[in-house]
Amino acid sequence: MMRALTADAIFSADRGMIPGGVLILDAHGVVVDLLDTTSNFDLSNAQKMRGVLCPGFINTHVHLELSHLRGHISKHTGFVGFAQELMQKRNTFSAEEVATAMQLAEQEMWQNGIVAAGDISNTNTSFVTKRNSPIYWHTFIELLGLNPSRAPKAIELGELLLRECPTAATLAPHAPYTASPALLRAIAAHAHEPFTIHNQESLAENEFFQNGTGRVRELYNAIQVPLDFYTPPNCSALRYALPFLMAKRNLLLVHNTFTPNDDLFWAMQHYQNLFWCFCPKANLYIENNLPDFAAFYRAGARITLGTDSLASNDSLSVLDELKVIAQATPEIPTTALLTWATKNGADFLNIEQTFGTFERGKKPGVNLISGLDENLRMCAATQVARMV
Ligand SMILES: [Zn+2]
Repeated sequence: MMRALTADAIFSADRGMIPGGVLILDAHGVVVDLLDTTSNFDLSNAQKMRGVLCPGFINTHVHLELSHLRGHISKHTGFVGFAQELMQKRNTFSAEEVATAMQLAEQEMWQNGIVAAGDISNTNTSFVTKRNSPIYWHTFIELLGLNPSRAPKAIELGELLLRECPTAATLAPHAPYTASPALLRAIAAHAHEPFTIHNQESLAENEFFQNGTGRVRELYNAIQVPLDFYTPPNCSALRYALPFLMAKRNLLLVHNTFTPNDDLFWAMQHYQNLFWCFCPKANLYIENNLPDFAAFYRAGARITLGTDSLASNDSLSVLDELKVIAQATPEIPTTALLTWATKNGADFLNIEQTFGTFERGKKPGVNLISGLDENLRMCAATQVARMV
Protein backbone atom coordinates (compact mmCIF):
# COMPACT_ATOMS: atom_id res chain seq x y z
CA MET A 1 0.00 0.00 0.00
CA MET A 2 1.57 3.27 -1.15
CA ARG A 3 1.07 6.46 0.79
CA ALA A 4 1.21 9.96 -0.75
CA LEU A 5 1.90 13.03 1.42
CA THR A 6 1.75 16.62 0.27
CA ALA A 7 2.17 19.96 2.06
CA ASP A 8 2.84 23.64 1.36
CA ALA A 9 6.42 22.53 0.63
CA ILE A 10 8.63 19.48 0.98
CA PHE A 11 12.27 19.89 1.98
CA SER A 12 15.04 17.44 1.14
CA ALA A 13 18.61 18.71 1.38
CA ASP A 14 19.61 17.22 -2.00
CA ARG A 15 16.77 19.09 -3.77
CA GLY A 16 16.03 22.09 -1.55
CA MET A 17 12.51 23.38 -0.83
CA ILE A 18 9.90 21.99 -3.25
CA PRO A 19 6.64 23.98 -3.05
CA GLY A 20 3.61 21.72 -3.47
CA GLY A 21 5.80 18.58 -3.66
CA VAL A 22 4.42 15.08 -3.23
CA LEU A 23 6.23 12.40 -1.24
CA ILE A 24 5.40 8.80 -2.09
CA LEU A 25 6.21 6.15 0.51
CA ASP A 26 5.69 2.40 0.57
CA ALA A 27 3.98 0.58 3.45
CA HIS A 28 7.26 0.44 5.40
CA GLY A 29 7.99 4.15 5.10
CA VAL A 30 10.62 3.72 2.38
CA VAL A 31 10.77 6.60 -0.11
CA VAL A 32 9.44 5.61 -3.53
CA ASP A 33 9.50 9.07 -5.08
CA LEU A 34 9.55 12.79 -4.40
CA LEU A 35 7.60 14.67 -7.08
CA ASP A 36 7.39 18.37 -7.86
CA THR A 37 4.37 20.15 -9.36
CA THR A 38 5.42 19.33 -12.93
CA SER A 39 4.47 15.69 -12.36
CA ASN A 40 0.67 16.30 -12.49
CA PHE A 41 0.23 13.67 -9.80
CA ASP A 42 -3.39 12.92 -8.94
CA LEU A 43 -3.73 14.31 -5.41
CA SER A 44 -7.22 12.94 -4.66
CA ASN A 45 -5.83 10.16 -2.43
CA ALA A 46 -2.92 12.15 -1.01
CA GLN A 47 -2.76 13.25 2.63
CA LYS A 48 -2.63 17.08 2.49
CA MET A 49 -0.96 19.11 5.25
CA ARG A 50 -0.23 22.73 6.10
CA GLY A 51 3.47 23.34 6.65
CA VAL A 52 6.76 21.84 5.46
CA LEU A 53 7.58 18.14 5.38
CA CYS A 54 11.21 17.21 6.03
CA PRO A 55 13.13 14.02 6.85
CA GLY A 56 13.45 12.85 10.46
CA PHE A 57 15.85 14.83 12.66
CA ILE A 58 19.30 13.64 13.73
CA ASN A 59 20.29 14.60 17.28
CA THR A 60 24.07 14.25 17.15
CA HIS A 61 24.75 15.05 20.81
CA VAL A 62 22.75 13.84 23.80
CA HIS A 63 23.60 12.26 27.16
CA LEU A 64 20.65 9.94 27.76
CA GLU A 65 22.12 8.70 31.05
CA LEU A 66 21.78 12.19 32.61
CA SER A 67 18.02 12.42 31.94
CA HIS A 68 17.07 12.11 35.63
CA LEU A 69 18.75 15.47 36.32
CA ARG A 70 16.05 17.43 34.48
CA GLY A 71 15.34 20.57 36.53
CA HIS A 72 17.94 19.67 39.20
CA ILE A 73 20.95 21.70 38.04
CA SER A 74 21.09 25.49 38.51
CA LYS A 75 21.18 27.71 35.42
CA HIS A 76 23.85 30.25 34.46
CA THR A 77 26.50 29.07 36.93
CA GLY A 78 29.12 28.75 34.20
CA PHE A 79 30.72 25.50 33.36
CA VAL A 80 32.70 24.96 36.58
CA GLY A 81 29.58 25.45 38.71
CA PHE A 82 27.67 23.19 36.35
CA ALA A 83 30.29 20.43 36.42
CA GLN A 84 30.51 20.52 40.22
CA GLU A 85 26.76 20.36 40.73
CA LEU A 86 26.51 17.57 38.15
CA MET A 87 29.15 15.49 39.94
CA GLN A 88 27.42 16.06 43.31
CA LYS A 89 23.91 15.16 42.16
CA ARG A 90 24.48 12.63 39.42
CA ASN A 91 24.65 9.57 41.70
CA THR A 92 22.01 10.54 44.27
CA PHE A 93 19.08 8.88 42.47
CA SER A 94 17.85 5.29 42.54
CA ALA A 95 18.52 2.98 39.58
CA GLU A 96 14.80 2.92 38.93
CA GLU A 97 14.53 6.73 38.81
CA VAL A 98 17.45 6.85 36.39
CA ALA A 99 15.96 4.15 34.15
CA THR A 100 12.47 5.69 34.10
CA ALA A 101 13.84 9.13 33.24
CA MET A 102 15.80 7.67 30.32
CA GLN A 103 12.74 5.94 28.93
CA LEU A 104 10.71 9.14 29.08
CA ALA A 105 13.55 11.06 27.46
CA GLU A 106 13.80 8.50 24.66
CA GLN A 107 10.03 8.76 24.04
CA GLU A 108 10.23 12.55 24.05
CA MET A 109 12.96 12.45 21.39
CA TRP A 110 10.90 10.11 19.21
CA GLN A 111 7.79 12.29 19.53
CA ASN A 112 9.86 15.34 18.59
CA GLY A 113 10.75 13.75 15.27
CA ILE A 114 14.24 12.49 16.13
CA VAL A 115 15.08 9.30 14.22
CA ALA A 116 18.78 8.90 15.03
CA ALA A 117 21.08 10.06 17.81
CA GLY A 118 24.70 10.20 18.88
CA ASP A 119 24.69 9.47 22.61
CA ILE A 120 27.51 10.07 25.09
CA SER A 121 27.83 7.27 27.65
CA ASN A 122 30.16 7.05 30.65
CA THR A 123 28.42 3.89 31.90
CA ASN A 124 26.19 1.08 30.67
CA THR A 125 22.99 2.44 32.26
CA SER A 126 21.50 3.64 28.96
CA PHE A 127 22.11 0.39 27.07
CA VAL A 128 18.74 -1.25 27.84
CA THR A 129 16.74 1.82 26.79
CA LYS A 130 18.69 2.12 23.55
CA ARG A 131 18.38 -1.58 22.76
CA ASN A 132 14.57 -1.34 22.90
CA SER A 133 14.26 1.96 21.06
CA PRO A 134 12.94 2.66 17.53
CA ILE A 135 15.59 5.40 17.27
CA TYR A 136 18.93 4.56 15.61
CA TRP A 137 21.65 5.04 18.26
CA HIS A 138 25.37 5.52 17.96
CA THR A 139 26.99 5.34 21.40
CA PHE A 140 30.11 7.33 22.13
CA ILE A 141 31.87 5.68 25.04
CA GLU A 142 33.34 8.76 26.70
CA LEU A 143 36.78 8.58 28.30
CA LEU A 144 38.53 11.05 30.61
CA GLY A 145 42.04 11.45 31.96
CA LEU A 146 44.24 14.53 31.87
CA ASN A 147 46.93 12.60 33.70
CA PRO A 148 48.83 10.67 30.99
CA SER A 149 49.33 7.71 33.31
CA ARG A 150 45.55 7.13 33.27
CA ALA A 151 45.33 6.47 29.52
CA PRO A 152 45.76 2.64 29.52
CA LYS A 153 43.18 2.20 32.28
CA ALA A 154 40.69 4.48 30.50
CA ILE A 155 41.05 2.56 27.24
CA GLU A 156 40.60 -0.73 29.07
CA LEU A 157 37.37 0.50 30.66
CA GLY A 158 36.19 1.80 27.29
CA GLU A 159 36.82 -1.52 25.60
CA LEU A 160 34.74 -3.33 28.23
CA LEU A 161 31.81 -0.98 27.61
CA LEU A 162 32.25 -1.24 23.83
CA ARG A 163 31.88 -5.03 24.04
CA GLU A 164 28.72 -4.71 26.11
CA CYS A 165 27.10 -1.94 24.07
CA PRO A 166 24.11 -3.10 21.97
CA THR A 167 24.31 -0.18 19.49
CA ALA A 168 26.89 1.06 17.03
CA ALA A 169 29.65 2.43 19.26
CA THR A 170 33.06 4.09 19.30
CA LEU A 171 35.39 5.50 21.94
CA ALA A 172 35.51 9.30 22.31
CA PRO A 173 37.46 11.69 24.53
CA HIS A 174 35.31 13.95 26.74
CA ALA A 175 37.07 17.26 26.08
CA PRO A 176 40.56 18.67 25.53
CA TYR A 177 40.88 19.75 29.18
CA THR A 178 40.19 16.19 30.39
CA ALA A 179 42.39 14.33 27.90
CA SER A 180 46.16 13.87 27.90
CA PRO A 181 48.04 13.58 24.61
CA ALA A 182 48.48 9.88 25.48
CA LEU A 183 44.72 9.37 25.84
CA LEU A 184 43.92 11.33 22.66
CA ARG A 185 46.46 9.30 20.68
CA ALA A 186 45.20 6.00 22.08
CA ILE A 187 41.56 6.84 21.25
CA ALA A 188 42.48 8.01 17.75
CA ALA A 189 44.37 4.77 17.17
CA HIS A 190 41.43 2.77 18.46
CA ALA A 191 38.38 4.52 17.15
CA HIS A 192 36.57 3.58 14.03
CA GLU A 193 34.67 6.50 12.73
CA PRO A 194 32.74 8.49 13.69
CA PHE A 195 33.94 10.06 16.90
CA THR A 196 33.42 13.24 18.87
CA ILE A 197 34.76 15.62 21.52
CA HIS A 198 33.30 18.56 23.47
CA ASN A 199 35.01 21.74 22.27
CA GLN A 200 35.40 25.25 23.66
CA GLU A 201 32.21 25.25 25.69
CA SER A 202 33.68 27.91 27.98
CA LEU A 203 36.34 30.59 27.75
CA ALA A 204 38.12 28.95 30.66
CA GLU A 205 39.14 26.01 28.46
CA ASN A 206 41.24 28.22 26.22
CA GLU A 207 42.82 29.94 29.23
CA PHE A 208 43.80 26.56 30.70
CA PHE A 209 45.71 25.64 27.53
CA GLN A 210 47.14 29.10 27.01
CA ASN A 211 48.64 29.55 30.48
CA GLY A 212 47.37 26.85 32.83
CA THR A 213 45.29 29.19 34.97
CA GLY A 214 41.63 29.97 35.49
CA ARG A 215 38.47 28.08 36.28
CA VAL A 216 39.53 24.73 34.83
CA ARG A 217 42.45 24.67 37.26
CA GLU A 218 40.04 25.71 40.02
CA LEU A 219 37.80 22.79 39.09
CA TYR A 220 40.71 20.34 39.35
CA ASN A 221 41.66 21.90 42.70
CA ALA A 222 38.08 21.61 43.94
CA ILE A 223 37.94 17.89 43.14
CA GLN A 224 41.47 17.46 44.53
CA VAL A 225 43.19 16.29 41.39
CA PRO A 226 46.82 17.50 41.46
CA LEU A 227 48.13 18.92 38.19
CA ASP A 228 51.88 18.66 38.84
CA PHE A 229 52.31 16.74 35.55
CA TYR A 230 50.60 19.46 33.48
CA THR A 231 52.41 22.04 31.35
CA PRO A 232 50.17 24.34 29.30
CA PRO A 233 50.92 24.01 25.55
CA ASN A 234 50.31 27.72 25.01
CA CYS A 235 47.60 27.42 22.36
CA SER A 236 43.80 27.20 22.26
CA ALA A 237 41.96 24.07 23.43
CA LEU A 238 41.10 23.17 19.85
CA ARG A 239 44.65 23.56 18.55
CA TYR A 240 45.87 21.39 21.40
CA ALA A 241 43.49 18.48 20.74
CA LEU A 242 42.90 18.33 17.01
CA PRO A 243 46.39 17.30 15.82
CA PHE A 244 46.20 14.15 17.97
CA LEU A 245 42.78 13.17 16.67
CA MET A 246 42.59 13.53 12.96
CA ALA A 247 43.12 10.78 10.59
CA LYS A 248 40.58 10.71 7.78
CA ARG A 249 37.68 10.13 10.13
CA ASN A 250 34.43 11.94 10.79
CA LEU A 251 34.97 14.02 13.92
CA LEU A 252 32.24 16.06 15.59
CA LEU A 253 33.27 19.09 17.65
CA VAL A 254 30.49 19.85 20.12
CA HIS A 255 29.44 23.31 21.42
CA ASN A 256 32.07 25.65 19.87
CA THR A 257 30.63 28.51 21.91
CA PHE A 258 34.04 30.13 22.36
CA THR A 259 35.77 29.06 19.14
CA PRO A 260 37.53 32.14 17.74
CA ASN A 261 37.32 32.72 13.99
CA ASP A 262 41.00 31.98 13.46
CA ASP A 263 40.55 28.56 15.10
CA LEU A 264 37.56 27.88 12.87
CA PHE A 265 39.44 28.79 9.69
CA TRP A 266 42.57 26.92 10.79
CA ALA A 267 40.61 23.76 11.56
CA MET A 268 38.63 23.85 8.31
CA GLN A 269 41.78 24.43 6.30
CA HIS A 270 43.69 21.53 7.83
CA TYR A 271 41.05 18.89 8.48
CA GLN A 272 38.50 17.72 5.92
CA ASN A 273 36.15 15.49 7.88
CA LEU A 274 35.11 17.90 10.59
CA PHE A 275 31.53 18.49 11.69
CA TRP A 276 30.51 21.21 14.15
CA CYS A 277 27.63 20.54 16.54
CA PHE A 278 25.63 23.34 18.12
CA CYS A 279 23.65 22.80 21.35
CA PRO A 280 22.36 26.37 21.80
CA LYS A 281 19.83 25.71 24.55
CA ALA A 282 22.49 24.05 26.73
CA ASN A 283 24.81 27.00 26.09
CA LEU A 284 22.10 29.38 27.28
CA TYR A 285 21.41 27.14 30.29
CA ILE A 286 25.02 26.87 31.47
CA GLU A 287 26.97 29.87 30.16
CA ASN A 288 24.09 32.10 29.00
CA ASN A 289 26.03 32.59 25.79
CA LEU A 290 25.75 31.45 22.16
CA PRO A 291 28.25 30.52 19.45
CA ASP A 292 28.78 32.91 16.54
CA PHE A 293 26.41 30.95 14.28
CA ALA A 294 26.82 33.38 11.37
CA ALA A 295 30.60 32.91 11.29
CA PHE A 296 30.26 29.13 10.96
CA TYR A 297 27.49 29.48 8.38
CA ARG A 298 29.49 31.94 6.25
CA ALA A 299 32.61 29.76 6.49
CA GLY A 300 30.67 26.84 5.01
CA ALA A 301 31.25 24.65 8.07
CA ARG A 302 29.32 21.38 8.15
CA ILE A 303 26.98 21.96 11.08
CA THR A 304 24.82 19.52 13.04
CA LEU A 305 22.52 19.93 16.04
CA GLY A 306 22.51 18.43 19.51
CA THR A 307 20.20 18.72 22.48
CA ASP A 308 22.86 17.90 25.06
CA SER A 309 21.30 16.33 28.17
CA LEU A 310 18.29 17.14 30.33
CA ALA A 311 20.80 18.25 32.99
CA SER A 312 21.31 21.39 30.87
CA ASN A 313 18.11 21.56 28.83
CA ASP A 314 14.36 21.48 29.46
CA SER A 315 13.56 19.60 26.24
CA LEU A 316 15.12 17.07 23.86
CA SER A 317 13.98 18.66 20.62
CA VAL A 318 16.12 19.46 17.59
CA LEU A 319 13.45 21.94 16.48
CA ASP A 320 13.74 23.85 19.77
CA GLU A 321 17.50 24.20 19.10
CA LEU A 322 16.85 25.42 15.53
CA LYS A 323 14.39 28.03 16.80
CA VAL A 324 17.07 29.55 19.04
CA ILE A 325 19.45 29.82 16.09
CA ALA A 326 16.76 31.22 13.77
CA GLN A 327 15.91 33.90 16.31
CA ALA A 328 19.53 34.80 17.10
CA THR A 329 20.71 34.80 13.48
CA PRO A 330 17.95 35.70 10.99
CA GLU A 331 20.40 35.63 8.06
CA ILE A 332 20.55 31.82 8.17
CA PRO A 333 17.77 30.49 5.90
CA THR A 334 15.38 27.71 6.91
CA THR A 335 16.82 25.47 4.18
CA ALA A 336 20.25 25.64 5.85
CA LEU A 337 18.83 24.97 9.32
CA LEU A 338 16.92 21.94 8.05
CA THR A 339 20.02 20.64 6.23
CA TRP A 340 21.95 20.81 9.52
CA ALA A 341 19.16 18.93 11.32
CA THR A 342 18.80 16.16 8.74
CA LYS A 343 21.45 15.47 6.10
CA ASN A 344 24.53 16.68 7.98
CA GLY A 345 23.80 14.57 11.05
CA ALA A 346 23.24 11.51 8.88
CA ASP A 347 26.49 12.15 7.01
CA PHE A 348 28.39 12.49 10.28
CA LEU A 349 27.01 9.25 11.75
CA ASN A 350 27.59 7.40 8.44
CA ILE A 351 23.90 6.52 8.17
CA GLU A 352 23.17 8.48 5.01
CA GLN A 353 22.12 5.27 3.20
CA THR A 354 18.95 5.30 5.33
CA PHE A 355 18.51 8.75 6.85
CA GLY A 356 18.82 12.46 6.10
CA THR A 357 17.04 13.02 2.75
CA PHE A 358 13.97 11.88 0.78
CA GLU A 359 16.04 10.07 -1.84
CA ARG A 360 14.55 6.90 -3.29
CA GLY A 361 15.15 3.79 -1.20
CA LYS A 362 15.86 5.58 2.08
CA LYS A 363 13.67 5.27 5.18
CA PRO A 364 14.40 8.62 6.83
CA GLY A 365 11.16 9.24 8.78
CA VAL A 366 8.91 12.21 7.98
CA ASN A 367 8.37 15.33 10.09
CA LEU A 368 5.78 18.05 9.57
CA ILE A 369 7.02 21.52 10.52
CA SER A 370 4.02 23.82 11.04
CA GLY A 371 3.56 27.34 12.31
CA LEU A 372 6.34 28.85 10.16
CA ASP A 373 5.85 32.52 9.33
CA GLU A 374 4.79 33.72 5.86
CA ASN A 375 8.43 33.58 4.64
CA LEU A 376 8.78 29.97 5.87
CA ARG A 377 10.96 31.17 8.74
CA MET A 378 10.94 29.52 12.15
CA CYS A 379 9.35 31.52 14.97
CA ALA A 380 7.94 30.97 18.47
CA ALA A 381 4.82 29.28 17.08
CA THR A 382 6.73 26.71 15.00
CA GLN A 383 6.10 23.09 15.90
CA VAL A 384 7.14 19.62 14.75
CA ALA A 385 4.95 16.53 14.44
CA ARG A 386 6.16 13.08 13.47
CA MET A 387 4.16 11.83 10.46
CA VAL A 388 6.05 8.58 9.80
ZN1 LIG B 1 27.68 17.13 26.16
